[in-house]
Amino acid sequence: MAANPSVSQVRVAVRIRPLTPREASEGGKGVVDGNAFDRTVSLSKRRFTYDSVFHPRVTQLELYSHVAPPLLDAFLGGYNATVIAYGQTGSGKTYTMGSEAGTFFEENPGNLSDKIGLIPRFTTDLFASLVERREDSEKALLRNWDGDNFPKQSISLIDFRVSASFLEVYGEDIYDLLDEDRSNALKIRECSNKEVCVKGLKSVPINNASEAMNVLNTGTLNRTTASTLMNLTSSRSHACFTVNLHQTTRSADGDEIITTSRFTFVDLAGSERMKKTGAEGERAKEGIKINEGLLALGNVINALADEERLAKGGRIHVPYRQSKLTRLLQDALGGNSQTLFLACVSPSDTNASETLSTLHYANRAR
Ligand code: ADP
Ligand code: MG
Repeated sequence: MAANPSVSQVRVAVRIRPLTPREASEGGKGVVDGNAFDRTVSLSKRRFTYDSVFHPRVTQLELYSHVAPPLLDAFLGGYNATVIAYGQTGSGKTYTMGSEAGTFFEENPGNLSDKIGLIPRFTTDLFASLVERREDSEKALLRNWDGDNFPKQSISLIDFRVSASFLEVYGEDIYDLLDEDRSNALKIRECSNKEVCVKGLKSVPINNASEAMNVLNTGTLNRTTASTLMNLTSSRSHACFTVNLHQTTRSADGDEIITTSRFTFVDLAGSERMKKTGAEGERAKEGIKINEGLLALGNVINALADEERLAKGGRIHVPYRQSKLTRLLQDALGGNSQTLFLACVSPSDTNASETLSTLHYANRAR
């Protein structure tokens, strides 16, 4: 079971993807070095240290196996867990998240091909763990049942419900990606349990990993269609896929306890600076707003890292209210949640200046 963290924990990792065929054909050279042992990334004469570093040959399964267990444990233990992918467009955010899994499940029924990213792997393991825990609880109950009283045993899982939602933050507007009607931007509210909620956001019940992937695919399709209609690219918006878990457990004393937790996967907008050319008028304004969200997120993660450094000491002010993105992620990042901030970079010299800016951003988050 997960440790019981008194404050949120943010871990920062960097993934360097392989050169793409296009970069290679344009004469790009790999100039970014990652060292998994001393957890450093070097570019030119700069060197940065992170919590984990994944070099270009690290497979999707290796990455998953490294990052998943603590997050999944926390989530199953009733805490919020979050994975955030950051980086310039084309750096591998969506590939790593696996949020465009498309038809992978149909192509490989029951078999996760190596291309598959984090989300399908998480949901597969999530349902496997839940089903196993419930079966173990039932077996223990039958074994120890004395006819009158619930047997004394460790916490048992009586029942669980899982649902998923998928939204997009575009500048300061929030859209439900599971709702084809994009005419209404949604509003953030505080619900009765003091958590941050999005009013009217759809939450679809899911019973297994492939239903989760259907929800993900529907949303991804809506996102692409909407951005095409608006003549924009989806790389300008942040996409948040959330898995909600509602568990009914019984304690050793026979008390029924209900816990809810959220697992949020955030595929952020491209972090690239707007080019001077071709970024006038609306596009330029849009770029500024998107970067404001990323700036605010950097400040929040930085404050959380400071708080963690203070360890058991007091709380410090975390500026969630600087943007819709950070307000929305308040419960995903704060409280007792576990967060993985995953910075994605290209290895190519042709992208060196954006890569350097990503490495700086991620370094501040530590
Ligand atoms: P982003 O979402 O950051 O814009 P993508 O995830 O779409 O970037 O990745 C850009 C391209 O690079 C895609 O063609 C993707 O398949 C490829 N790619 C990214 N990461 C890897 C990787 N680790 N291994 C192989 N190909 C990758
Ligand atoms: Mg992408």
